[in-house]
Amino acid sequence: MATYAYRCLECGQFEVRLPIGTAEAVRDCPVCRSPARRFFTVPNLTRLSHAASAALTREEQSREAPEVVTHVPPGRRWQPPSHPAPSRLPRP
Ligand SMILES: [Zn+2]
Repeated sequence: MATYAYRCLECGQFEVRLPIGTAEAVRDCPVCRSPARRFFTVPNLTRLSHAASAALTREEQSREAPEVVTHVPPGRRWQPPSHPAPSRLPRP
């Protein structure tokens, strides 16, 4: 599967995942059904670390289906920033 980019003059850009070599030069816009022309983007050929690749995948998925959490995940509790100045203040 490959991701192909199209540009609708009315609605802007959209992407379609299709088997390699099956993308048409013109495709109907999924929103307004007017013809949208395919355009080429820079291929994502860089080798990323596993952590960077996972973060990129998660970011892409969150565009359309963001994760909803009902509580703070364990180990990710917010900690107030520690600054040494308050500890030097005189105590009452
Ligand atoms: Zn459109």
